Amino acid sequence: MAKRRIAILGSTGSIGTQTLDVVRQHPDLFEVDMISARSNADLLAAQAREFNVNHVAICDETRYDTLCDTLKDCDCKVWSGIGSICNLVKSDGVDIVVGAMVGFSGLRPTLAALEAGKIVALANKETLVAAGNIVTRTMREHNAVILPVDSEHSAIFQCLLAAQGNEVEKIHLTASGGPFRTWDRKTIAGARASQALKHPNWDMGAKVTIDSATMMNKGFEVIEAKWLFDIDPSRIHVVVHPESIIHSMVEFADGAVIAQMGCPDMREPIGFALSFPSRVTVGNRKLDFAAIGSLTFEEPDLDRFPCLRLAYEAIARGGNTPCALNAANEVTVAAYLKDMISFYDIARINEKCLAGMTFAANPSIEDIFETNKEIAAIANGYID
Ligand code: MG
Repeated sequence: MAKRRIAILGSTGSIGTQTLDVVRQHPDLFEVDMISARSNADLLAAQAREFNVNHVAICDETRYDTLCDTLKDCDCKVWSGIGSICNLVKSDGVDIVVGAMVGFSGLRPTLAALEAGKIVALANKETLVAAGNIVTRTMREHNAVILPVDSEHSAIFQCLLAAQGNEVEKIHLTASGGPFRTWDRKTIAGARASQALKHPNWDMGAKVTIDSATMMNKGFEVIEAKWLFDIDPSRIHVVVHPESIIHSMVEFADGAVIAQMGCPDMREPIGFALSFPSRVTVGNRKLDFAAIGSLTFEEPDLDRFPCLRLAYEAIARGGNTPCALNAANEVTVAAYLKDMISFYDIARINEKCLAGMTFAANPSIEDIFETNKEIAAIANGYID
């Protein structure tokens, strides 16, 4: 495998640091050309030094001077703002762009990387939720490639390598069920963010961990799968699988189901996206089937987890509705993390935002940005 040059958007977050951990294990296979972060200048500077990167960019322009100062004895170039990040991902010095920014903020740099025909290892599912049609169209128009980093979608992608051109009957998208899987509705209603942040299986960032607790994450993953694999949502079945050993499954016409399994560790899908079609060691634990003993499955409960129902409704309405749902959810999750609203306020406010949105059946990229802004304002109005 020729050495691959990587740009990591969101290098200080959970996916970003785990990506660097994979790179750290294979200095002969990967080198880091560029890293960016929202505001964590200290960690970003430490990463720039360790990986001897060529470019460092920080979104928060108020942190630029600090970053320059910390790195003044280094060779790397220091940048700030989303515009410079969009330029850096297009560079000839980059083969793979890891999209690990949180939320809607990942949309512009992802589109920029796709327009430059790059391989995008995409962890930032909100990009596909908000603008899946535009993102996948841009990918096709510029012969770019999206490789999924989300563990379920990496699993589906791996199962599809065995499809040999046969049509997919069904995707079984597995869900851990999150920290409140066995709690009754009344107890969940009183749950604080600190409790929701205790995910039973996966080590992830705060936003996606709350989305896991509400199961909005699984709803978004249905939308993500629809766009990544061009499959009708009616063929995507969510099944709760608390052990998180099967990362997802694909079913064919003859009833055969192919599953992808592994210990829950994000370095596995990250490593596969970076080294595809090769496989490399990533330092994770290996499965011990006898120790696991049994794998269990159950139907998701849309009454206790109304955000999953909202996601299905948003897909059914289509157009800019998933974008609106994502925008509302970014505001409500941020408010929940600050203990400003209760657990079920997330779904309640998200639903109100969908009722109040301006619908566009075929949104342009400008419409998508406008919807994001409009809904953020509506959602914030319900919180203050
Ligand atoms: Mg996932």
